[in-house]
Amino acid sequence: MQTSADLKNLLARIDRRGYPAYKDTRGAYQFPGYVLSIDHVQGDPFAAPSKLSIHVSGKTAGFPRALYETRCRRLALQDELTRQFGRRAAQFSFQAKGSGQSGLISVSRCGPEVLERTACRLDPERGDVLLRLEVGFPANGRTINARELEKILFDFLPRCVQETLCCSGLDGRRLRAVAQLADDQQYIRQKLPELGLCAFVADGSILPRESGVSSRPMKGAVPFRAPRELAVTLDLPNRGKITGMGIPRGITLIVGGGYHGKSTLLKALELGVYDHVAGDGREYVITDRTAVKIRAEDGRSIRRTDISMFINGLPNGKDTVSFETEDASGSTSQAANVAESLEAGTSLLLIDEDTSATNFMIRDELMQRVISRDMEPITPFLERVRELYDRWGVSTVLVAGSSGAYFHAADRVIQMDRYEPRDVTALAKREAAAFPLHAEGLEPAAAPSFDRRPRASRKFGDGGRIKLKSLGRDGVSIDRETIDLRHVEQLVDGEQTAALGECMVYAQRSLLDGKRDLRQVVDELEAVLDRRGLEGLCQERSGVPFLARPRRQEIFACFNRYRGLEL
Ligand code: ADP
Ligand code: MG
Repeated sequence: MQTSADLKNLLARIDRRGYPAYKDTRGAYQFPGYVLSIDHVQGDPFAAPSKLSIHVSGKTAGFPRALYETRCRRLALQDELTRQFGRRAAQFSFQAKGSGQSGLISVSRCGPEVLERTACRLDPERGDVLLRLEVGFPANGRTINARELEKILFDFLPRCVQETLCCSGLDGRRLRAVAQLADDQQYIRQKLPELGLCAFVADGSILPRESGVSSRPMKGAVPFRAPRELAVTLDLPNRGKITGMGIPRGITLIVGGGYHGKSTLLKALELGVYDHVAGDGREYVITDRTAVKIRAEDGRSIRRTDISMFINGLPNGKDTVSFETEDASGSTSQAANVAESLEAGTSLLLIDEDTSATNFMIRDELMQRVISRDMEPITPFLERVRELYDRWGVSTVLVAGSSGAYFHAADRVIQMDRYEPRDVTALAKREAAAFPLHAEGLEPAAAPSFDRRPRASRKFGDGGRIKLKSLGRDGVSIDRETIDLRHVEQLVDGEQTAALGECMVYAQRSLLDGKRDLRQVVDELEAVLDRRGLEGLCQERSGVPFLARPRRQEIFACFNRYRGLEL
């Protein structure tokens, strides 16, 4: 392997030459204490920055095995190192000067969720640390300014490595706290099914955010406090006793006046499928990992989805067992979202009336008298919610501030009252009894059919280059076709979306054979992710992109919105 001295000589040689001479720096160099690898070099100072990786051996990094021996601790430590390195590197970004992106130093920007990312990897056996970053190689115009790059590679980065990728540079107490929080979160998650719960919200949690565009906790917010009837106390391995609201499996209604904090609670539950970092306020808001937010999504495409559980006998005679549309209505999109979530293996649906199609959710009695059942293609969710739980074990948490129709079906009714939850089940049930439902005999739904076997599109077959473009968190474009993921609300990071793009291309190239059904395809994708990591999706290109692991549910969501998929 070449040494850092070789790199220094090379930089002296190419200084002030044309930008393409930077290409010669590709390669791996032994620095004192780590290996710097230049994996991809940008074509000019205005192009996407160059890709570098830093490899610190386990012996040098020196993290105690206890900090990374379990998967959950490893992910938490990787996340912590990414944040620490990122914070330090940001102080050096653009300290080296030049045109365009010259001097940029960047790593993944982490939100409050702890995600598995390509940004940082800890080898579980040896404790080796790998950190990926991007650097804008400095130039004046298109003339190489190698002295500025020398500053970055020989001054800034060694300090970042020393201070944030080696245990000796970091605060040991803080690292232990990160590992302990991860354990406690995992403990709660594993305890949920045992306790018959689908979610837990600890007392003292801060649920609201500073603003609609911020993920920071709101200052001066009313801390969460469980009502006595739903209070559950857990004994966490590190933190010890913690009390909070346990949401039992079954059907739970969240009611209350406008602006009393209903949607805020539901949002916290949606994001409770991920672990949150210390200080977020939602560290101990833990939801069933498979939970899916269901909403109306007018305009989405639906591909051969069985929505017959909710929709039958459309006036245009369209098949609803294998329903197709390029432009779904509110109710058909919401029906498809439920059916597809069952296919993805969810056991908890989260629904907010604010983002639902009313005719999908309810049909009131007066309307039923005027428009008889055989004139109405929609069987509202209300009439299936009990069946979903009794027959398929799928619970529902539903925010319903304006309709009491769900009181009959609910197992629990929680009122948000000035941001404090109260258990009003008894009252709601008493009032509901005074308004008996006029039950029309309803046939139970047939088990939905999930028989969809995608085939690879020809253009992926010939090994040609497929253009993959990330559109931030909101979507991804594959060979100029956009997959719109704006309404897939539990996607939290553009790197997850980018990973979904890679998943689609990988599946097109190696998994879609018209024989595997969609569930088998996703099983195989997840097996690749488990075995080889996110890196396993994208071997052929130089420089692994920044990716974060999406859940199974979001992989399905992406396939389901992929209009070009051949089914
Ligand atoms: P709802 O869905 O019941 O109409 P929201 O959940 O949208 O109400 O909350 C209304 C407003 O109250 C939001 O601006 C939200 O940030 C704020 N809010 C929510 N929870 C709290 C809380 N615990 N303390 C202070 N403000 C809160
Ligand atoms: Mg609301």
